[in-house]
Amino acid sequence: MKKILLIHTGGTIAMEENKVTGGVNTKEIHPLEATIAELSDIAKITVKNYVNLPSPHITPSHMLELANFIAIQTDSEQYDGIVITHGTDTLEETAYVLDLVLQTSIPVIVTGAMRSSNEHGSDGPYNLISSVRVACEEQSLGKGVLVVFNDEIHAAKNVTKTHTSNFKFIPSESLD
Ligand code: ASP
Repeated sequence: MKKILLIHTGGTIAMEENKVTGGVNTKEIHPLEATIAELSDIAKITVKNYVNLPSPHITPSHMLELANFIAIQTDSEQYDGIVITHGTDTLEETAYVLDLVLQTSIPVIVTGAMRSSNEHGSDGPYNLISSVRVACEEQSLGKGVLVVFNDEIHAAKNVTKTHTSNFKFIPSESLD
């Protein structure tokens, strides 16, 4: 069975909507825990709660530190792939920086969610499962950092978020 390192960094995928105020808050227990348990027949998952930040708070320093953290993790343990959960606002920036600086040859997938864990149609669990499946695939090797979202696989260097609430991440080259 493939060994996947799952690194959480925060964002909507780690949050819950407050039904009274409409605000979106972080949770003490990560909302993806049940999904991670279900993933046990697909891969052996090691979880690292790296940070829990809304992604507008993720700076280039965080991105470089994350790359460093990944290098340390993959030096000390053999993994077949890495999945990073991230807020969508700066997901493309983190994916791009990781694509530029990471030296690893194993698949690195970045994913997130447009809807928080207790909203109808919450997309976090599905995006996580898709990401782990892509991380386990031999065909993902040597493709650089990939963004897996809404049943699509994108190259990190070529993807952008196009809508605040719609699930669309599209290749940036198709923008006018
Ligand atoms: N504001 C959130 C963030 O980027 C949006 C999201 O995750 O979808 O952290």
